Formats: sequence, C-alpha cells, structure tokens
Amino acid sequence: LNQGIGSWPTRRARKTPDRVAVIHEDRAWTYREFHQRVLRLAHGLQDVGVVRGDRIAYLGPNHPSFLETLFAAGLLGAVFVPLNNRLTAPELAYNLSDSGSTVLIHAPEQACAARAAADEAGVRHRITLDGSHEGALGYEEVLAGGGTDPLDEPVAPDDPCMIMYTSGTTGRPKGAVLSHANVVWNSVNVLVDTDLGGDEVTLVAAPLFHTAGLNMTCLPTLLKGGRVVLLTAFDATRVLETIENLRVTYMFGVPTMYDAMAAQPRWSTTDLSSLRTLNCGGAPVPARTIATYLARGLAFSQGYGMTEASPGILFLDKEQTSAKAGSAGVPHFFTDTRMVLPDGLDAGPGQRGEILVQGPHVMTGYWNRPEETEAVFADGGWLRTGDVARTDTDGYAYIVDRAKDMFVSGGENVYPAEVEEAVLSHPAVAECAVIGVPDQTWGEVGRAVVVLGPGAHADEPGILDHLHGKLAKYKIPKSVVLTDSLPRTATGKIVKSAVRASYANTPA
Ligand code: ATP
Ligand code: MG
Repeated sequence: LNQGIGSWPTRRARKTPDRVAVIHEDRAWTYREFHQRVLRLAHGLQDVGVVRGDRIAYLGPNHPSFLETLFAAGLLGAVFVPLNNRLTAPELAYNLSDSGSTVLIHAPEQACAARAAADEAGVRHRITLDGSHEGALGYEEVLAGGGTDPLDEPVAPDDPCMIMYTSGTTGRPKGAVLSHANVVWNSVNVLVDTDLGGDEVTLVAAPLFHTAGLNMTCLPTLLKGGRVVLLTAFDATRVLETIENLRVTYMFGVPTMYDAMAAQPRWSTTDLSSLRTLNCGGAPVPARTIATYLARGLAFSQGYGMTEASPGILFLDKEQTSAKAGSAGVPHFFTDTRMVLPDGLDAGPGQRGEILVQGPHVMTGYWNRPEETEAVFADGGWLRTGDVARTDTDGYAYIVDRAKDMFVSGGENVYPAEVEEAVLSHPAVAECAVIGVPDQTWGEVGRAVVVLGPGAHADEPGILDHLHGKLAKYKIPKSVVLTDSLPRTATGKIVKSAVRASYANTPA
C-alpha cells in the first residue's frame, strides 16, 4: 500500500474529482486530471528506469510539473529533490552530486545551467519541460508515453519523501531528509491550527523549492481538496491582480513580499475582500507591515519554522496579531519546544534561550552529513534550531535572533534583529542589516547597513539620533553605511555573512 504523499492525488480524485486542484497562468486542472497526469508521469519515469529510493531532482520556477514530479516520485517510492533556480551551474552540480540524483527535470529557462550541472554530476537523464532536445527527453512525451494502471509500489510513512536544501543563509545549504510522515504531520499541524478548508483558494507566489511555499502552503491545501494558484514567480502587481481576479482566500509570504505589495500603485484600489488569511513567516514581521495591513482590515497569522522541521514549529493565530504583536506564537498542535540556556537548563519566562524542537515532522537527519546530523540533535532527540527566543508568561514565544548573528559589545549580548527593527522604524529607511564590527574599546560595536526608500533622504546622524531612547546605548550602532541593496537569498532573507564580508571592514 502506498501510505506516502504520492497517493494524495489518487485519494483526492476518489473524493473530489471535479474540484479544481491547480491553476497556472490561464489553465486549470481538476483533481481527476491532476491524478491522471501524476500517474502517467510516474509510469513514464519508471519506463526511464527510475526505481524506489532513486533521487529525482527538479529545477525551475513555479509550475504544475513541480507538483506532478513530487507526487509521481512519491508513487514510485523515489525521493524528490527540489533545487533553487537561482543557483549557478557549479552550485547545482554540487546539489546534484550531493543528493546522487539520477534524473533532472528542468524548465527551459534553466537549460544551460542544467545541462552543465547534469553533465558534471553524471545525472543519467535530463528531462526538459519544452520538449525533447539532443541529450534530453521531453517532459510531456515522457508523461504521454506512461501507462495509467494503478502503481502498487509499497511506500511506508518513514520512507524518505524529499531532500530539501536549507536556504543557505548561514553557510552552504544542507539537504534535510524529510519522510512522508514528516510532511504529512506538518500538513496536519497546519490544518489543525488554521481554518484552511476545502473551499480555499491558495495563492503560491513564494518559490516552491523552499519549504514554506511547498509545505506550509501548497500541500495542506491539496490534502484538504482546496485549489492552488501557482504564480511562476513573485511579482507584486501580479499578486494583487490575482487576488482580485481569482478571489484568493489564503496566501503565504515573507515580509519583503507583503511590503512590496503594499508599495504598488494599485494597492489602494485592489479588492482584497476575498482574503481570509495572510500567513507570514521566515523572518520577523516588522510592526509597520502589520499596521499597514491592519489598516486594510487584514491580519497576519505568523509562523516560525525551519526546513529541518518540515517546517512549522511556532504559529501565531491571526486573531492574536494585535494582542501578541511581534510574537511568533505557540508550538503547533503536534509540536513540542523547549527554550534552553547555554548551560542546558530550561529558560524561565522572559529569559533568552535556544529553541529546541521535537515532533513527528522533524527530520531524521541531513543527507550524507553524519557529523552535522549528530551535532544538530541534543540529548533526547531534540533538534537544535540555532535560534534564540524568549517566552512570555502566557507561553508566547518571541524570536530574538539567530545565535550565530549575535555579537558582544562591552560584555553585553546584542541581537541584531532587535536593532534592525528600531532602525526600520525610521520613516526614510526601507531595508536594514545590523552587523557587529571590531572595536578597540568595546570588542565589537554595531554597524547598520541601510537602504533608503525611493526618494527618501536621511544621513548617519539622523538615523542614529532616531535610535536614542528606543534602544539601550550599547545596542545603538556606532556607524551607518548607506547602500543601494542588500544581498538576499531566494526567499528574501538577508545573507548576513555576505553583509559582513562587504561592510565589516569599510571605513565608516
Ligand atoms: P541555512 O540553515 O542554510 O543557513 P536558513 O536557516 O535560512 O538557511 P531555512 O530553513 O529556510 O534556512 O530558514 C529557517 C530559519 O529562518 C530559522 O532557523 C530562523 O532563523 C528563520 N526564521 C524562520 N521563521 C522566522 C520568524 N518567524 N521569525 C524570525 N526568524 C525566522
Ligand atoms: Mg538553518
């Protein structure tokens, strides 16, 4: 019996065959059609030689074939490996060899990098979305040639479902091995903790190859029988148009996406009345973003998670947005967390500690990295998140920052995230990253690297002045560097190591 997620399209086609499952550009597929395509693709991949346990990589922008490949792999007991389409050929070759992928399915936009990377990594078959070429099979041909008999590959809940690479914010991306059970339990957590229903119209504008777009957004919707609207890539104007035209009810975004939407000329005239839930995660939501959306009657639910946890860990219901502003919420229903002090003791209310997490959605380990797997788990099977949080007396957690980004100024710990929030409250500041730089007197002092809003004016003294009275003196940066843009990952996170590399040594 297939107890993996590969069976979902079949099970859905049994229950809700005529409901729309996926919409992309101007096409829509019902659950029946989606199930048939997944089944054909699974047979087609089997014909190419894919067997249980093989890794199948996918490279491209958001497209229905991403989801078809995920489920087809699940039907075969093969492991799905989504790749970041912003990576260069050598980086892709690293991921392909690291995962040992035998098949690479890719979009035409990525043909060049895909060819080079697949050759270097010794991938056996390349399958392109735009029809067969020399050296590559065509996706639709593989699919059309596949049969429609039921597949009876046994897949157990603990079998690996996907190898998902972390964002690479703090170093080289690591492949988290997520089992079918991990992915299912995460979807169950989302369905228990939100009002996501079978009538949901879920907009997926975040990249599918990252955990939030796929596991927090797409999969719970498909499990429940709602419809998923895929945008090829994030485009703020397209998002607003789509919300209005398709009456979107649910979406996920990182804070920068929500800020970009609110900055569009058509923001004030777009009909947003269909929206029920705006989910936000991946980074703390700035207070002013919350205020902008609340002024339109829209509240955020907020999540904290990581790829290794499939990813949901903490969740703040939208009803609590105002009462618990700035909090990432409480653990998901089937999730347990602890906050621990550096000496291993549990942190009390108000104390800062590292978040440890346990639950049926937490990965069993990193692919091919026994030492890193060993290091990431504490005694008792708790996953170390590397993130620091404090909890209030009601048990609501506030993410302080990554332990790695903390610096020490005059013996006091400074968490950049808190300083960034204060700098961002300056009306001229659009983006900000705070890093610690060496200082003879204090050991380290803060430096704010700032991008001003379009047409806005501010200088170093003005920005620093704004922080007095908001932050303790030791937290206030000693210098401000203005720049045009900050280095970000595909999900919009600021890459602190790159900021440090560029700005830690520039004279202020
Ligand atoms: P890498 O592990 O490769 O350095 P990454 O940690 O950014 O990259 P992800 O798994 O995509 O990769 O992101 C998880 C991290 O994102 C968390 O560990 C945390 O630091 C941050 N994060 C997620 N949600 C929130 C949130 N709501 N508030 C603050 N930080 C968050
Ligand atoms: Mg991480």
